[in-house]
Amino acid sequence: MKKFSDLNLVEPLLRAVKAEGYDTPTPIQAQAIPPALTGKDVLGVAQTGTGKTAAFTLPILQRLEELDIQPRQNTPLALILTPTRELAIQISESLKTYGKYLRQHHTVIFGGVGQNPQVAALRRGVDTLVATPGRLLDLMEQGHVYLDEVETFVLDEADRMLDMGFIHDVRKVVKELPKQRQTLLFSATMPSAITSLAEQVLLDYVRIEVKPAATTADRVDQRVMFVEKSNKRKLLEDLFSDPDIDRAIVFTRTKHGANRVAKFLNQRGIESDAIHGNKSQGARQRALKNFKDGGVRALIATDIASRGIDVEDVSHVINFDLPNEPESYVHRIGRTARAGADGMAVSFCDEGEVDYLRDIEKIIRQKVEVDGEHAFHEDRIARMHADHTRPRAKAPSNSRGGGQRGRSSRNGGGRSGGRGRRR
Ligand code: AMP
Repeated sequence: MKKFSDLNLVEPLLRAVKAEGYDTPTPIQAQAIPPALTGKDVLGVAQTGTGKTAAFTLPILQRLEELDIQPRQNTPLALILTPTRELAIQISESLKTYGKYLRQHHTVIFGGVGQNPQVAALRRGVDTLVATPGRLLDLMEQGHVYLDEVETFVLDEADRMLDMGFIHDVRKVVKELPKQRQTLLFSATMPSAITSLAEQVLLDYVRIEVKPAATTADRVDQRVMFVEKSNKRKLLEDLFSDPDIDRAIVFTRTKHGANRVAKFLNQRGIESDAIHGNKSQGARQRALKNFKDGGVRALIATDIASRGIDVEDVSHVINFDLPNEPESYVHRIGRTARAGADGMAVSFCDEGEVDYLRDIEKIIRQKVEVDGEHAFHEDRIARMHADHTRPRAKAPSNSRGGGQRGRSSRNGGGRSGGRGRRR
């Protein structure tokens, strides 16, 4: 079996990988990294959980290091296009982790939040840009991003781009890329539209296909409970009458929701604490310590606040609200069943969340077992889910501001500074 040290990676990358505790590359990494490092195009048929993120972030970091040029304002040298905000954030975290001993810069842009901090980061100059398609096109149209110096382009989760209706946006982005570049395309499945896209964007490529890894989703015992929104709190209280739930993380969609659930549980004598972005770092750390020490039985968290929570022996993850991004579900349930321990994940699903459940089942490639035995079971919602075979309307093609179409001219676009050597 190959080791990371057999893959021709430079020392600062090997050190960063080691610091993460990895010594054996996953199959996609072992097969994709060597050709990607030589500049070859790669088609990776691999899904989330196989380690594909490192399979493209490590070669990008190394190639840009070898290139050794200072990126100009608004002109990234590598572009990673991915369909969702959640994936974009994960990829940017990987760049940070693996690039920690290098002096490269990256930033991440996605819709649904203000553009100003993103524009400012682009203006400072980035080596690698991680983006979702809609916001990228938006910022390109406004003259905040130019793609003509992109050396490596990654198209991540190409099949989901198609599912989400982003394929035209992807094509628009590709048109702006230099013809001479490296392209790495990853897709879990290869429907015909993706095969033809691959033929168009890849040149003389290496095709690598890996079997899905045993994902967290396979190791965690998962249940869904169909319930009216107004009964969720009572159902939660009922669940906590089971003493087996000794250390649970309860996920809500909003900060207010987290506070309300924590207050409710405390009023019912179930010790709990909320942890979310409105709390100071100190308050968050205290809550976390209290939870680790067993001082509270439940920690109520939002997705963002849960990043970096690493607590052993979480007996249950309870999704009080289902996340609208399916990756968040996988992330959440990964908080239990750490290190081979048995974990249990219970999700509440109300009428408005049936579509979310469907998206989740699609990415985990399994049905979540229905628990219809609880006191608040809503058969009507269960049937909605079971009947839900009708294809959903395509998501709108990302939110676009009322920005003016057409690229601003380079001169007007406000780029300055030539490419120079990094050191
Ligand atoms: P990905 O498919 O890129 O989302 O990665 C799935 C998970 O595997 C992430 O949590 C990575 O941190 C982890 N991972 C990636 N590469 C390795 C490796 N070589 N050994 C162990 N874990 C890894």
